[in-house]
Amino acid sequence: MELEIDFLKQLALNIYDEVHPILGTSKASQKFSRGAGGDISMQIDLLAEKILIETLEKASINILLISEEIGEKYIGNKELALKNKNVLIVDPIDGSNNAARGIPYCSVSIAYAIGSTANSIKKAVVLDLVTKDIFWAVKGEGAYLNEEEIYVSDLGINDRCYCEINLSKKSMFKNIDNIRSILQQFHRVRILGSSALTLCQIAKGSMEAFINLRDSNRLVDVAAGFLILQEAGGKMMFINGDEINGELSINLRFPFFASNLKLVSFLIKNLNQEK
Ligand SMILES: [Mg+2]
Repeated sequence: MELEIDFLKQLALNIYDEVHPILGTSKASQKFSRGAGGDISMQIDLLAEKILIETLEKASINILLISEEIGEKYIGNKELALKNKNVLIVDPIDGSNNAARGIPYCSVSIAYAIGSTANSIKKAVVLDLVTKDIFWAVKGEGAYLNEEEIYVSDLGINDRCYCEINLSKKSMFKNIDNIRSILQQFHRVRILGSSALTLCQIAKGSMEAFINLRDSNRLVDVAAGFLILQEAGGKMMFINGDEINGELSINLRFPFFASNLKLVSFLIKNLNQEK
């Protein structure tokens, strides 16, 4: 059994149908206890995950689901899921705080792997919860925005590049100090709040780099964007320039950078300079 890309798109669309109408409402932001990923779950997160699980259970498939609120859960028959090594890595809403407050930058992120490492990710969907645009990729077959194939930009560091940063609140100023000389070389710097969507912005050439220095950055946020960016010709790597690896798990967390191909060596060099 292998899940089809259309099934993954439908999964994201089902979440969109329920979540889009309540973006920015008080219903969306009602708070609950911490989800497995460590963030406070809001009504909108729980609703999105409930639809996810219902859709999967109706489809009668056997799979390990790794999802932000619930953590790890086997859907269907656990033995069969272990045997076929099918894993779905989902952030039902990436950018929950934006979604709750009505800031139009949030997404559904769904990655499908056959195997247990980041390299096993075969298909990915990131759906923009505001515009309903779907970014998607199948390994070896390119990356797409709706029907159009997308590619990273060809800009180098002297070509007025755009960069997004994401920093933990606790060490924000220390982090900014460390990357000050890098940021000064970009034309514009943004902090938008949905890592999944930002990886897609780089994939379609709207932005050149993303530096995410949060140690708490979770696999569920970036697994789909990782494949989409890679298929669009970009790179996402550990800060030291090593390839992203590690067992697919709710506990996998890591800082990283992502960029078009032209900026990779600039970022590795400058992120790892002795201070
Ligand atoms: Mg989330």
